[in-house]
Amino acid sequence: MKSLDSHIETVLWTPDQITSRVSDLATEISADLSHLTDPPVLVGVATGAFLFLADLARHIRLPVAVDFIRAESYGSGTESNGCPKVSSDLKLDVNGRHVVLVEDIVDTGSTVSRLIEYLESKGASSVSVATFLDKPSRRKVQFELLGNGKFYRGFECPDHFVVGYGMDFAELYRNLPYVGVLKPEHYKCQSP
Ligand code: 5GP
Ligand code: MG
Repeated sequence: MKSLDSHIETVLWTPDQITSRVSDLATEISADLSHLTDPPVLVGVATGAFLFLADLARHIRLPVAVDFIRAESYGSGTESNGCPKVSSDLKLDVNGRHVVLVEDIVDTGSTVSRLIEYLESKGASSVSVATFLDKPSRRKVQFELLGNGKFYRGFECPDHFVVGYGMDFAELYRNLPYVGVLKPEHYKCQSP
C-alpha cells in the first residue's frame, strides 16, 4: 500500500496549528465550565470527532464525563442526505446535566441540529457545541443551542470536502494528523 500522504493535494492545517488551536479552545471552554457544580458531559460524535475529543479532553483540567453518540447521514459520498438519525445511543444519562457536543465539522447543520433536539429530549440542561471545523457557507439548518450553551469552533473551513484529524472519505484518512484536501482522483477511487 502507498502512503496516505501521497493522496493529499493541499494541507489546510498542520499538526502544530491544530495542537495550538485545540489547546486555546480547551482553555476557553474550561473558563466557561468552571462555575458549574457538577461535571459536564463531553459527548463526541463518532467517529469523526474521536481525535478532536481526545485532544480537547486532555486540555480540560476540570472533572468531565465522556461519552459518544453516532448519527448517520453520510454514506461513502461527500453529500449529506439531510436527515441524520441517531444510530448509536449514549451510555450515560444526561438528564439534568450540562453537555458539550463535540463534532468534527458542522456543514449543513442538520446533524448538530438533530443531536441538540435529541439531547434536549433526554433532559440535558444545556447543550454547547464544540466543533473542530465550521463551514458556515454551507449552512442550511439554523440550530439553537440549549439553555446557556455556547458555540465554539476551531477553524472556519473553506467549502472543500476535507479529510484527516478524524475526518474520513469512505472510512479512510481519519488517522492523518493534519487536515487536507484529497487529490481529485481519490474522491472517485474508494481504495488507497
Ligand atoms: P452536516 O449534518 O452539518 O451537513 O454534516 C455533518 C457531518 O458531515 C460531519 O459531522 C461530518 O461527519 C460530515 N462532513 C461534513 N463536511 C465534511 C467534510 O468536508 N469532510 C468530511 N470528511 N466529513 C464532512
Ligand atoms: Mg461528524
